[in-house]
Parts: sequence; structure tokens; C-alpha cells
Amino acid sequence: MQHIYGMTEEALKGYFIQIGEKPFRARQIISWLYRQKVNDFSAMTDIKKDLKPRLEADFCFDELECVTKNVSSDGTIKFLFKLADDNLIETVLMSQDYGYSVCVTSEVGCNMGCAFCASGLKKKQRNLETYEMVLQILMVEKLTNVKVTHVVVMGIGEPFDNYDNVLDFLRIINHPLGLEIGQRHLTVSTCGLVPKIYEFADFPLQVNLAISLHAPNDELRSKLMPINKVYNIGELFTALRVYYAKTKRRLTIEYILINEVNDNPKEAYELANLLRGLNAYVNLIPYNEVLENPFKRSLRERQRAFYDILKKQNISVTLRKEQGSDIAAACGQLRSKYLK
Ligand code: SAH
Repeated sequence: MQHIYGMTEEALKGYFIQIGEKPFRARQIISWLYRQKVNDFSAMTDIKKDLKPRLEADFCFDELECVTKNVSSDGTIKFLFKLADDNLIETVLMSQDYGYSVCVTSEVGCNMGCAFCASGLKKKQRNLETYEMVLQILMVEKLTNVKVTHVVVMGIGEPFDNYDNVLDFLRIINHPLGLEIGQRHLTVSTCGLVPKIYEFADFPLQVNLAISLHAPNDELRSKLMPINKVYNIGELFTALRVYYAKTKRRLTIEYILINEVNDNPKEAYELANLLRGLNAYVNLIPYNEVLENPFKRSLRERQRAFYDILKKQNISVTLRKEQGSDIAAACGQLRSKYLK
């Protein structure tokens, strides 16, 4: 029995060919699932009657169980979902002026071990299956009646450590007969798994790539992000230049501002130098404090000073407004609260 929401068009075509059916059935099924929101083969009127028992035996429509749903004062909604094996994952819906954006979890736990992050407190248990990522979008739409227009793979987990499933997930939610979330509205965020950045440069969808940088030199970055000891900043930026040369897609550099750790003028100038000549824009994110470590959010005037230095150095930069912190929608917090 396979999960139907994990099937790409290619996989469905392969299935139909294998059972001696026409591959165009794949497109019919996709339209039923994601356009008509039908989760029952018997209601799919253009599928032959004698084919239905076979489909029912081969596929299930299992959903995720919503354990809690917290609504923030700014409208951000955080969902805690329970998977079939009782693992818990979180998904966040943010209302933006350009539409509705969902932050998707890609793994149960995370092995990247970033010092500032609450997600890594729980080691990776397993990859999320493709259908578990697709269902995060479907469940959010169903539970709120909104149409999701943007997706960021920035929840718990390292998407490039679950590469194949994440790419299938992007293919499915982008499908023109399905949810049709535009490729330019999709963003994948990585802490810098360099070999996958090279692979991703050949992915045909024009998805945005965001890099969690958080420090402009190896000494500091290795302290904050252990992955830097495997792929240092030099190797990372070589990969980013190749990626840009191939895709011509502007990169997003994420930089959380932690008080007196990485938010000094020195780091701002280093960052500007590092990015010079690269088509990248910097998303400065005031750090969300978590109980489990001593890091503090950069003071407002320090955030501003950091931002101003980058601006003066002609780097495109935004200082992100914060959403959902009153419901712990920031990076692994709800789940870790719930587990306590
Ligand atoms: N593993 C991927 C995606 C998940 S983390 C990555 O590293 O990009 C999503 C983003 O949230 C990353 O930039 C991460 O560094 C950041 N983040 C983690 N903990 C945070 C916190 N407490 N406050 C603000 N940002 C945080």
C-alpha cells in the first residue's frame, strides 16, 4: 500500500504503465486529488469502474492528525501534527501581504547540531516521506480554508539531508494540474551541504535557494554551525558561485542576529566583503531566544547598525519582521515545549 500524496506524476505514470493502463491516468488522478480535493477513488468519475478496486488496494489517502493549532496575535498559525508512527512535526502558516506562506518541516529532528537552534535538541529520527510534506500543505489548507501561495522548506530538519523526498515534494506541489504553487514561490533553505548545492543547480524547477550563513568567517561559523567543519565558507561560496552561474537565480543569505556574538560591525563588514560580486540578498533575522541555550537576541540598535553597514556597502538587505513568537512559532520551540 502506497501513500497517494507521495506520488509524483512520473511515479504515477510508471505505476499505470506497469499495471497495463494508460499513463494519462496520472494527470487525471492529480487533478482529482489537488484540484477537486477528492480523497476517494469511487468519486473520480473519469476513472473506469473496473480499475477502482485495484487503485483502492494499492493506495491510501491517510492524512496527518492535527494535535494542536495555535493562532498568534499577528495571524500566524502554528500546527502540531502527529505522524502515523506518533512522531510530532510542526508546520507554520504565515499571512503575508503577497499571500499565504507555509513553513514546512522536512525531517523528524535534525542532525546538523547548530548551537543556537532548538530543533537539533532532538536528533534526527528519520526523514519525512514525501507524502508527509505534501500533507502539511493540504492539511493547512483544509484546516484554515486558505490557498497556500508560497512554501518555504525552513521548518525542522535539513532539506538537503532528505534531498530526494524534498525534490519530489516540490514537484508535486508545483504541478500545474495540482496545487500549482509557482516555482518562484518555493524556497529551500540549507545550512550548506555543499555536494547537494551542486546537484540542486541542475534541478529543473526554478526554486529559490536560501543559505543559512549566520557568520562571515570560519572561526565563528564553526562554533555556531558544526557543518562548517565539513564544508567551510570557501567551499560553500565556490558552490554558490557555480550554482548562480548555472541557474542565474539570486541567492538568499539568511543571517540571524545574536547579541554580541555575530552582530558586531566587524562581522557586518566581513559579510559585505564575502558577498561582493555575488547576486545575493541578505535576510537579517533577529534571533528568537530559546530556553535551551544562552544566546540573546541582538539589541534593536545593534540590528539597525548591522543593517546600515550592509546597506552602505551596497548589499541588498532586509531586516525581517518577526512573526508568531508569542506562540513559539519560531524554529522548533512548540514541539520542544510539547515534548516536555
Ligand atoms: N536546516 C535548514 C532549514 C531549517 S532552519 C537550514 O539550516 O537552513 C530554518 C532557519 O531558521 C535557519 O536559517 C536556521 O538557522 C534558523 N534558526 C534556527 N533557530 C533559530 C532561532 N532560534 N532564531 C532564529 N532563527 C533560527
